[in-house]
Amino acid sequence: MVCKLCGEKAQVEVRSRGLALCKGHYLDWFVKETERAIRRHRMLSPGERVLVAVSGGKDSLALWDVLHRLGYQAVGLHLQLGIGAYSERSLEVTRRFAQERGLELWVVDLKEAYGFGVPELAQLSGRVACSACGLSKRYIINQVAVEGGFRVVATGHNLDDEAAVLFGNLLNPQEDALARQGPLLPEKPGLAARIKPFYRFSEREVLSYALLRGIRYLHEECPNAKGAKSLLYKEALNLVEKEMPGAKLRFLEGFLDKIQPRLQAGEEVVLQECQRCGYPTTGAVCSFCRMWDAVYRRAKKRRLLPEEAEFTPKAEAVRVP
Ligand code: AMP
Ligand code: ZN
Ligand code: ZN
Repeated sequence: MVCKLCGEKAQVEVRSRGLALCKGHYLDWFVKETERAIRRHRMLSPGERVLVAVSGGKDSLALWDVLHRLGYQAVGLHLQLGIGAYSERSLEVTRRFAQERGLELWVVDLKEAYGFGVPELAQLSGRVACSACGLSKRYIINQVAVEGGFRVVATGHNLDDEAAVLFGNLLNPQEDALARQGPLLPEKPGLAARIKPFYRFSEREVLSYALLRGIRYLHEECPNAKGAKSLLYKEALNLVEKEMPGAKLRFLEGFLDKIQPRLQAGEEVVLQECQRCGYPTTGAVCSFCRMWDAVYRRAKKRRLLPEEAEFTPKAEAVRVP
């Protein structure tokens, strides 16, 4: 296999798009494709400030790298979730990445901010760990963005992630979620816009970029993800992809272009301010505040917290030197 552009030995084959490229041309292609996705969906204006949610995995570190290379003012935000040694290592890797490149990194430590990390939070809230964790991540990332004056938050979700979510939302039909899913969620009062510039890259393509760029990322998966349904959906979609290159991309883009607009034709959901924290919610109190209020009640009953302990929704993000 030779590079389509220069005839040198190809390093990466992008089967879904009938491309084979050498290292240099692959790295260029990847950055340009990201910029194309950003332009196409008007995710960012040139040089705009953007808060990048970084977990320490290959996707979010590669995203931070590309956004920085493209000239955006990309500030990192890492959430320390308190999932044992996994979380310690995630922070270490993220911090090293930022330091080596002189990038600005902010950290919120869940346990420091609210008293409990994900394992205790899951236990006390009666939720599955991934659900309590996901809710906390979405809420805190948005809060830090809004308080920090960021219009936009970027996450490292790739094609495999997005296709698996779509598959799951079709398997157990979730109309609201299907109508909302997409590479760009526009901003609203109290809600930063959310963008996924890598939504057209397969996991393998992002991995190739990270490896060829020499990005040192955390290889291990979150221990809570074991047995997650999303992994099964990814496997199923990859089986199809193997026989039909490009199927994953057609599945996601076909849905976004042809079917989703019809789902969005209905009325807009009405958002109001959460009585507890002031951030937008569909009910009186947002699900983040409800979860933590219940956790505090239970923790007091079990004497894990003093009677006078009060849950305060505001988290302090600390800039890491
Ligand atoms: P995941 O659901 O773990 O695949 O993560 C999806 C995206 O969410 C990542 O690409 C990151 O942008 C973001 N993210 C996940 N975990 C964290 C974390 N601990 N801190 C900040 N952002 C995160
Ligand atoms: Zn080449
Ligand atoms: Zn709230």
